[in-house]
Parts: sequence; structure tokens; C-alpha cells
Amino acid sequence: MAGIQTVGVIGAGQMGNGIAHVSALAGYDVVLTDISAAALEKGVATIEANMARQVARQLITPDDLKAALKRIRTSPEMKAHEASDLVIEAATEKRELKEQIFRAVCEVVPVHAYLATNTSSISITRLASVTDRPERFIGLHFMNPVPLMKLVEVIRGLNTDQQTYETAITFAKRIGKTTTNAEDYPAFIVNRILMPMINEAVYTLYEGVGNVESIDTAMRLGANHPMGPLQLADFIGLDTCLSIMQVLHDGLADTKYRPCPLLVKFVEAGWLGKKSGKGFYDYSGEHPVPSR
Ligand code: NAD
Repeated sequence: MAGIQTVGVIGAGQMGNGIAHVSALAGYDVVLTDISAAALEKGVATIEANMARQVARQLITPDDLKAALKRIRTSPEMKAHEASDLVIEAATEKRELKEQIFRAVCEVVPVHAYLATNTSSISITRLASVTDRPERFIGLHFMNPVPLMKLVEVIRGLNTDQQTYETAITFAKRIGKTTTNAEDYPAFIVNRILMPMINEAVYTLYEGVGNVESIDTAMRLGANHPMGPLQLADFIGLDTCLSIMQVLHDGLADTKYRPCPLLVKFVEAGWLGKKSGKGFYDYSGEHPVPSR
């Protein structure tokens, strides 16, 4: 990516630490910020553990690990992005929050900097509209876990220019990803298809058609999915799943996208899935077991 040396990542959660991980390994200097100091600490520990696993599998050398970790700087301050050439936002899936982040980041980044969002569902055009550079704004939708998953879905907003698009494609290639293009409509391609299936799995549980284990086993062995839909929902984060369904429901105004009340209740309870230790499964023991 011509001219890109420093990649800024906002949000050090599941996705942000993965984006920082692959960017640092590809040779970029990385600035990783989060409002939560605990999230930053956990994010860096996750990067270290995941890179150590790559060393054990001989995918990278111990020197690669050492050099990549050295390239990552963390900060709780937005100001840390003052030298970022590309900033990728990977904070919580809430439109107002992302808008606030983009307004703040525009105050500090250089004029030449590109802005990207890892949103799963929110309008790229709308997020771009709060910035001072909608033409240099793009959606780069990574998959979880970032170091393992090949795809980056690339979404242009109404104002994204060709240079920004080409720069984004070059960046994605350099970090070893394959891209696919999606138009800027609610949840793009991957989640437009995936999330209604997960929501339907939650309805199947809610209506008592099956229990957690039978639903996941049915889809693993019956549809040859590598993971059951409830296990996958836990892995994605139930708050993220709910936000995506709300964006689909609001954006397409079709009742087929209404979020299952059971999904809403789990999120209300703080059962957010693997990241909070409990969702459809309870992760506190040696092996995950259904929560109820
Ligand atoms: P997460 O809950 O693991 O992490 C979100 C992080 O954002 C937290 O560390 C939180 O402290 C931080 N944050 C919140 N407000 C902030 C602010 N104002 N400034 C800086 N940081 C802030 O969530 P995640 O799974 O990493 O998801 C992040 C984004 O990536 C969301 O937009 C989500 O839709 C998208 N996404 C998620 C997945 C997935 O499978 N989880 C896949 C693709 C895209």
C-alpha cells in the first residue's frame, strides 16, 4: 500500500487485536488504541499468544514474532493516531459510538490518512458522512479470527474514490488476505446471509424445536458446517449478532429480520458469548457446556 507505513487500529477487542496482529506481521508499524486499558492489555496478550502458536506451527519464526511485537504500540489516547496513514476502526458495533470515534479521529490524523471501518453491518456511506474525507473512507470487513480467516469484504461508500479502493485492495493483499466486493447495503454479503441463519437457530431454540446441543450437532453433521450456529454466535459475540440483526431489521424494514427475543434477553443479561465467558455455552469449565 503505497505511502502506508503506520496502521492505526481503534478497538483492541477480538477483531482489533487480530487486525493489529496481521498488520504488524506484514511489516507495518501499528498503533492500537482502546478506551479500556484492560482491553489493551488483554489485546496485546492475545496477540502474543496467537503469534506464539504460529511459531509453534512453524508458520512464522521467533524473529518474526519479536519484530512484529516491537512494531505494535498501544495507547488509550486517540491522539496516538497523529502519524497513522490508515486508521481501521474496530470498536463495538454501535453506530453512534463509531460516528463519535470518526469525528474524534479526524481531529488528529494527517490530511492524507485513509479511514476504514470493520463494521459488520452499518452503512459505510453514513459513517463516512461524519468525517472530513468521505472520499478516503472505506469498509474493510475482516473475519474472525483475523489471523486465520482469509477473507476481507471490501465495501465502498457512495463517495469512496478509486484511489482509496485501490489502496485498500493493495493493503489487504499485503496482509495476506483475499478480497471480495460488496455494495453498501445493510450487513453487506457475509452477514446478510449468515446472521439470519444464526437468528433462526436462536428461534429454533426459543421455540423448543431443539436444545443447544441438538441444534449445533444438526448443523455440523447435517449441513457440514465446521461449527454449529449457536457456537458460532458465541464466537462472534451475541451483542454483535444482535446489533447486526437490528441494522438488518431497521435498514430493510422486513419482519423476517426481527431479532429473536431470546438473543435480546441473553445480551441484556450480559451473556455475550465466549468473550464474556457465557452465552449459549458456559466457558468457565474445562469444556464448554450449554448454559441452560
Ligand atoms: P469486542 O467487544 O471484542 O471489542 C470491541 C472493543 O472496542 C472493546 O475492547 C472496547 O473497549 C472498544 N471500544 C468501545 N468503545 C470504544 C471507543 N470509544 N474507542 C476505542 N475503543 C472502544 O468486539 P469485536 O468482536 O472485536 O467487534 C469489533 C467490531 O468488529 C464491530 O464493529 C463488529 O461488528 C466487527 N466485527 C466483528 C466480528 C466478530 O466475529 N466478532 C467479525 C467481523 C467484524
